[in-house]
Amino acid sequence: MQIQSLYQEIILDHYRNPHHKGLREPFDVEVHHVNPTCGDEVTLRVALKDVGGDPVVTDVSYDSLGCSISQASASVMSDLVIGKPVSEAMRILQEFLDLMQSKGQAEPDEAVLEDAVAFAGVSKYPARIKCALLGWMAWKDATGQALDETTGQAS
Ligand code: ZN
Repeated sequence: MQIQSLYQEIILDHYRNPHHKGLREPFDVEVHHVNPTCGDEVTLRVALKDVGGDPVVTDVSYDSLGCSISQASASVMSDLVIGKPVSEAMRILQEFLDLMQSKGQAEPDEAVLEDAVAFAGVSKYPARIKCALLGWMAWKDATGQALDETTGQAS
C-alpha cells in the first residue's frame, strides 16, 4: 500500500539508516513485541538510571524486522526518548498516541515530536497505526517493567 505523505522521505530515511539499532548492553529489561496484522517484530532493550529519584532513559536498543513504517518508527522513537527523564519520554509517547488517533486531523507539534511528525499521515490508515506504534509500545512495556524492578529494589 502506498502512503502519500509529505513526510515520506523522513520515514524512508530512518528505514534505510535506522538510529540506535542493534541490541546493546547493559540493559534492565528486554521485551519482544509482534504486530501480527503486518508481520512486524521488535526486540527491544531499555536501560534506566536513577538520578536523584528521577529515572532517566540511558539507552534504548532494538532489533526489528518488518515494514518500513514499523522500523522507521522504532528509529525515531529511540532518538526521542534516549537521554530523557522517563516522565518526559512518557509525555512524548502520549503526544504520539494522540497523533495516531487523530485520523489525519492533528497538527503535530514538531518541537515535541521532531521526526515523529512524519507519521501524521499514517493516522489516516488504521491498518498501519499498529506498525507505527509497535516500537513505542515495546518501549513503554519495557520501561514499565524496569520501573517496577527499581521500585521493588527500593522498598
Ligand atoms: Zn507494519
